[in-house]
Amino acid sequence: MKDKGRFGRYGGIYVPETLMPAVEELEKAFNRYKNNKKFKKELDHLLKEYVGRPTPLTFCTSLSKKLGCKIYLKREDLAHTGAHKINNALGQALLAKYIGKTRIIAETGAGQHGVATATAAAKLGMECEIYMGTIDIERQKLNVFRMQLLGAKVNPVNTGGKTLKDAINDALRDWTANVQTTHYLLGSVLGPHPYPEMVAHFQSIIGKETREQILKIENRLPTAIVACVGGGSNAIGIFREFLKDKEVNLIGVEAGGLGIKTGKHAARFADEKLGRLGILHGTMTYILQDKFGQIYNTHSISAGLDYSAIGPEHSNLRDLKRAQYEFATDKETMEAVQLLSQEEGIIPALESAHAIAHTIKLSKKMKKEDIVVINLSGRGDKDMTTIAKELKFK
Ligand SMILES: *Cc1c(COP(=O)(O)O)cnc(C)c1O
Repeated sequence: MKDKGRFGRYGGIYVPETLMPAVEELEKAFNRYKNNKKFKKELDHLLKEYVGRPTPLTFCTSLSKKLGCKIYLKREDLAHTGAHKINNALGQALLAKYIGKTRIIAETGAGQHGVATATAAAKLGMECEIYMGTIDIERQKLNVFRMQLLGAKVNPVNTGGKTLKDAINDALRDWTANVQTTHYLLGSVLGPHPYPEMVAHFQSIIGKETREQILKIENRLPTAIVACVGGGSNAIGIFREFLKDKEVNLIGVEAGGLGIKTGKHAARFADEKLGRLGILHGTMTYILQDKFGQIYNTHSISAGLDYSAIGPEHSNLRDLKRAQYEFATDKETMEAVQLLSQEEGIIPALESAHAIAHTIKLSKKMKKEDIVVINLSGRGDKDMTTIAKELKFK
């Protein structure tokens, strides 16, 4: 049991006894259906006809010239609901339906995962309740309205810091009490086994498509793949398919916030003082914590990267030196948002713009024929208020 769901020394199942039956049932269901013909066919159909997959791999004509190497974007921003999160939400919701659950619950911070979950629940005809901290509810009103319109109930969480961490605690409590009818739909490659493996599985479609597309266009694999890392699901989603191709550099980009030295960031790897091994929400991984082991409050301009723990598989890929991890600050991110918008006519999500910001730095080491694929995890429409404020638009 102790060794289940490990990525090297990371991951595992650190949950109270009362939650073990739920976690074990889910693991069985996932193993039973992940390669089941009927399940796969139904999910593939949804991904194609509802989400709009495969998403394009777009060559950046102008940005490539400017940065002096070949730049491609994997367009998860064009997936239904505007980000990669729908891939996982539909996969898990369908799995829950197959094992007879009628109710979906989820946590959400900025509301993006809540919206993806409410969307999947609406499409599959399931009841849906979303846990959200009251501070986040105030900050992300529009996403609360979206969830409500999609038929979900939003449960305000008033405990602790009243944000994502506390919402996860309440969702876990609900799951423990209602496991008979309810599936807890976790949003990233985090939490106890089987979640990190299951979410990676549902997101790995991103990398599978990318490989096929780049081979078709360029007839060779990319020099580097760059993705932003919150919990790490869009990054794992595109990395997995290339793990064995040692010539492809895999680069994850964390939120550098106001700078590592300020302590106001969400860079679990870059900050060697605050980012240490620990256990949070059922998994062992790198976590930002103070010297007493209390979870540290993170900061990022992008809500989706604003979490204190990183997915356990990333911790292992870093140990193995199979992936490298960098960071981009809020300021660099804002510059990247403007660059992509103005050079290519694509407004990226603030999360995804971290990957673009790092690519700008990376390009200085690249040759003209080198290929960089950026995972454009989402579109920036949701961030327009933040962007307008930062750029002092009137
Ligand atoms: C939620 C989100 C992320 C961060 O989540 P990961 O699990 O690290 O992928 C990144 N980009 C967008 C657009 C998001 O909505």
